Amino acid sequence: MIEKIKQLIDKGNKFLITTHIDPDGDALGSVFSMYWAMEALGKTATVYLKDTIPYMYEFLPGPKQLTHIFPVDQYDAIFILDCGDLYRVGDGFERLKDMGILINIDHHNTNEAFGVLNLIDEHASSTGEMLYELFHALKAPIAFNIAINIYTAIVTDTGSFRYENTGSKAFLICEEMIRLGVKPSYVSQKIYENHPKERFWLIGLVFSTMETYCQDRVAIACVTEEMFKKTNTDKDYADGLVELIRGIKGVEVAILVREINKQKYKLSMRSKGLVDVAAICRLFGGGGHKNAAGCTMDGTLEAVKEELKKCLDKEFI
Ligand code: 5GP
Ligand code: MN
Repeated sequence: MIEKIKQLIDKGNKFLITTHIDPDGDALGSVFSMYWAMEALGKTATVYLKDTIPYMYEFLPGPKQLTHIFPVDQYDAIFILDCGDLYRVGDGFERLKDMGILINIDHHNTNEAFGVLNLIDEHASSTGEMLYELFHALKAPIAFNIAINIYTAIVTDTGSFRYENTGSKAFLICEEMIRLGVKPSYVSQKIYENHPKERFWLIGLVFSTMETYCQDRVAIACVTEEMFKKTNTDKDYADGLVELIRGIKGVEVAILVREINKQKYKLSMRSKGLVDVAAICRLFGGGGHKNAAGCTMDGTLEAVKEELKKCLDKEFI
C-alpha cells in the first residue's frame, strides 16, 4: 500500500490534507507533518480543517496554506488522516470523493476503509507513528517542523506513553524526534500546563456532576452549554477532562457527556483494560479504539444516561 501511495505522490503535484472534526494532537500533528513532508518533496499541499485549532495545539508549526472553508477544487489526491469515518471530516464530506483520489491513513480499528487507497494499522499507537514510516518510504527528510508534529501526535495519543497502545516503536520514534531537536518538557508544558484559569473553573462544575455506576467501576460527568457560558469557556476547554475521570481509583470506564443541544450529546469514553468502549460507541454510530472512543447520542441528558447505564450494566455482570 505504501508503494501505491508513493506512486501517487510522485506523479501528482497538488494535494489536499485533512482530518476529523474536534481535532486532537494526533490529528493536527499528522496533518501538519504531512503538509511539511509534501513541501519538502516539492509538492503543493493545502490543509483543510473544519474546526479551529484548540489553544493547546497552537504552538505546532502549521502550514502556510490552511483553510477552514470547505475547498472547491480538484486535487491529485486527498489525504484523510486519523479519521475513522469519512463523515467526521465535517459538512461537505460527500463531495471529497469527486475532488480527488482519497487516501485514508489511520489507526482506528473501526475505520471504514472509505478511501481508494487505505493504509490502516490498528496496532500503530497513532497516525503520526504511521506517517513516520511513510515519510521514510517517501525519502522525505524529517526536519524539526515535522519532528515536533510527529512527537506531539504520538505523545498525545499514547497519553504520554501511559496507554495500552504504547509500544517500543512509539518510544523509538520519539527518541529520534528528540535527537532532531524536540524538547519533551516544552511540548508537555504547551499541551498540559498552559491552560487558562477558566478551564479549572469549568473542571469544578463538571466534576460536581459526576456520578458512578456499576459498583463505582463506571464514572460519568457532564458538561453543558450553561457551564461554558458561566466560566467563559467553550468545548476546547473540555479537552482531556475524560482522562481525569479515568484517573479515579477503581474506575474502568470513564465517560464525559458534552451537551451539543438539549436533545443531542457528544460522548467521550475511556477505559482501562478489558472493556471495549469502541464497541459500545459503535452501537450509537460512533467509533474509536478499544480504550478511547466517542459517539453522538440523541435525546435528553437523562435518556442518554439511562441508555448508557443499560449498555454498561451488561459489561459488568
Ligand atoms: P474523543 O473522545 O477524544 O473525542 O475521541 C476518542 C477517540 O474516538 C478518537 O480516536 C476519535 O477519533 C474517536 N471518536 C470520537 N468520536 C467519534 C465519532 O463520533 N465517530 C467515530 N467513528 N469515532 C469517534
Ligand atoms: Mn489518533
